[in-house]
Amino acid sequence: MQEYDLFVIGGGSGGVRAARMAAQSGATVALAEAGALGGTCVNLGCIPKKLYSYAAHYGEAFDEAQGFGWSGAPPTFDWERLKRNRAIEIMRLNGVYEKLLIGAGVQLMRGRARLADAHTVEVAGELVRATNILVATGGAPHKPDFPGHELAITSNEIFDLEPFPRRLLVIGGGYIACEFASIFSGLGSRVTQLYRGAQVLRGFDDDLRAFVAAEMAKKGVDIRLNAQVASLQRAAGGLRATLADGDALEVDAVLAATGRWPNAGGLGLQEAGVRLDEHGAIAVDDAFRSSVPHICAVGDVIDRVQLTPVALAEAMVVVDRLFGAGKRTIDYENIPTAVFTHPNVGTVGLTEARARERYGALRIYRSEFRPLKHTLSMSGERSLMKLVVDDASDRVVGVHMVGADAGEIVQGFAVALKAAATKALFDSTIGIHPTAAEEFVTMREPVG
Ligand code: NDP
Repeated sequence: MQEYDLFVIGGGSGGVRAARMAAQSGATVALAEAGALGGTCVNLGCIPKKLYSYAAHYGEAFDEAQGFGWSGAPPTFDWERLKRNRAIEIMRLNGVYEKLLIGAGVQLMRGRARLADAHTVEVAGELVRATNILVATGGAPHKPDFPGHELAITSNEIFDLEPFPRRLLVIGGGYIACEFASIFSGLGSRVTQLYRGAQVLRGFDDDLRAFVAAEMAKKGVDIRLNAQVASLQRAAGGLRATLADGDALEVDAVLAATGRWPNAGGLGLQEAGVRLDEHGAIAVDDAFRSSVPHICAVGDVIDRVQLTPVALAEAMVVVDRLFGAGKRTIDYENIPTAVFTHPNVGTVGLTEARARERYGALRIYRSEFRPLKHTLSMSGERSLMKLVVDDASDRVVGVHMVGADAGEIVQGFAVALKAAATKALFDSTIGIHPTAAEEFVTMREPVG
């Protein structure tokens, strides 16, 4: 039987990073993946989503160009061409991932892996032994259990939806729901978004949530709050969604974007003694060791923070502990994140509400404005920028933005937060003019 220092189950962001880094440090490594390399991020998540978001932005860019002197026949959108071009690019990335693994000396095994015992993995009938095992099997979309839920699609199916949905119902108020509501609205669908709570993007800063919901609505997304689907049925020419309040909607497709659950089943984990937590995620300690210490897990399957860069960082901690100096740690504070709504959301640090709980007295700086570009574009889009400052220490503890390229802008400010920058330091930083980002270093007066 082949023996490896490390066997990685899952070829997504966390698994590929761990396998490559371990192999490059001299370990013998195998990785099993049944599907396309790159996992959710590359195949059914971040990357195709961002490509579709770019596609959707062009829709408004054509309109806005008129104010800058451009004219011409209104362009038409070809959904088939977008899908085809996306598929080609994703295949290219699958190839890049494969090359990276093979180039690093990782043995790639095609098929679903299952633990035969705590040190033996079976892949497509072949048994191999491993000193260490890393489970990086990610997560999968979860649909609520209402009558007719099988008629709803998830983010797994949306990228290749056939035909283009002229009327789309989105269920959920999280990242995926808000992003696809914006994207399909931008591509020309009539989008209704139902969220069960009082405001979308629970967990984000309240000002930011209200602001982005209003901006999405201005662009045409019909956001219905405190709303639930009671049932879904086929109807002539589409689907009929009956809501909990008795209202009904006729649509072409329903996207359930109601959370993602860990892929921890069917792997023989519990039989090998690995404990799952109450949400079905693999329970791990600070070093990502499960209850069977040589079996580790990272990424969405441990359900801490479902973000690719976090899975990458977790993978690096595991590899460093197993094959390196063992000094690397991960800091879950101040993880910057973006939501690719239209306009984008970018955020790092604490919301105003969380900061108030932690620090008490705060100073809040807030700026809402029409970006320079939209003075001629005739778009009504506005931006929001907000700083949350701990009054006692003067430290900036939250940076929040709604506006074009918010993710690009907030990434840099995430470094400032990690460096514990004070508001005085922000104030002494020279702005780059004319940009939206300069607003973060020129807000002088706290709001009341
Ligand atoms: P989220 O957890 O972000 O959102 C799930 C949404 O579905 C919430 O609004 C939740 O409501 C709602 N919901 C859950 N269960 C039900 C139900 N039974 N009935 C009605 N509504 C329900 O999950 P997503 O699926 O949007 O995304 C999964 C994760 O993937 C994200 O949390 C994020 O970490 C990651 N991701 C990151 C992206 C990025 O970085 N840009 C993009 C896409 C995904 P409630 O708030 O009331 O619980």
